[in-house]
Amino acid sequence: MRMNARIELDAGTKTFASGLLPDLIAALRRSRKGDLVAVISGDPGIGPELETWCRFTRNSLIDTAVKDGRTRWVLRYGEAPEAVGEDRPVGSRLWLYTNFDCNLSCDYCCVRSSPKAPRRALGVERVRRIAVEAAELGVSEIFLTGGEPFMLPDIGEIIAACAAAAPTTVLTNGMLFARRRLATLHSLPRERVSLQISLDSPTPERHESHRGKGTWARSWKGIEQARAEGFRVRLAATVSTDGEAEEFRSFLDAHHVSEENRVIRRIALRGSATQGIALAKADLVPEVTITAEGVYWHPVGADDNDLLVSREIFPLADSFAAVRRAIDREYDHERRLARIFNCA
Ligand code: SF4
Repeated sequence: MRMNARIELDAGTKTFASGLLPDLIAALRRSRKGDLVAVISGDPGIGPELETWCRFTRNSLIDTAVKDGRTRWVLRYGEAPEAVGEDRPVGSRLWLYTNFDCNLSCDYCCVRSSPKAPRRALGVERVRRIAVEAAELGVSEIFLTGGEPFMLPDIGEIIAACAAAAPTTVLTNGMLFARRRLATLHSLPRERVSLQISLDSPTPERHESHRGKGTWARSWKGIEQARAEGFRVRLAATVSTDGEAEEFRSFLDAHHVSEENRVIRRIALRGSATQGIALAKADLVPEVTITAEGVYWHPVGADDNDLLVSREIFPLADSFAAVRRAIDREYDHERRLARIFNCA
């Protein structure tokens, strides 16, 4: 999917050696911090220089796409957001994308899930092996996400396998707790399983503008069902502005939802989203994420090749090592650039 940019800069025949740089600087002068600028050229050789220039100047190259022999690079103007959670060791939290299909098709879904999305399930056998190896590696928390995990007929077995290895949180829209799925929920161990249920706003309007008509009340009902079943429930809101975040915080305060049971995050410009915070690899503290396609740097880009670390999942120890090597490469690159900048 094409990433929208505020400025489209057609480089023509220009390169960094022949006049592209002043055009680039002029484009950034017309931009505000956080804006996206696209550079288009038929010369793919611009790419490595653009990446280096972005690193020097603390901008982020966040997307590269080739069409009809021309490359379009998208960079974000400004420094990466401050990293959070850097003290969390890589591999202490493990994310599994159980599947990619979903009963909803939210307009900002970071992995393009929908009822029409192919399932791409990890499958219970792979999850069992992952869970056993994760326990051996000392993983302390497992997160199951999708798509909507409760779309899967064997989600109960999947959750149980993970919960046997580590405390497990299931991310869900909470809309499917009826009949067989309610029985599945009922069967899960309360002391090892938590639910993180999405609710984007205190009232239906904004939530439903992203997620579809009638979704707010069904998610709220799911929250109440999960609580009634005795689960720890974390409420997760995806918002566009600080004002929306503040409004949701007041709502959670009024409902006596504690800090550890709330997540409020901004829309990420990934997947189906056409606006939101643009996130490059360097912006994201890595959290090992496994999908049916391989191992990814972070759950927010688990459908994007720029965050793919390895196609091989097993042995899990090798996957973790691959992520750590990828981190070392990132840091090495920064150190090399830092040396180039030495003044004496
Ligand atoms: S954001 Fe969640 S609920 Fe919405 S389509 Fe994506 S996976 Fe489904």
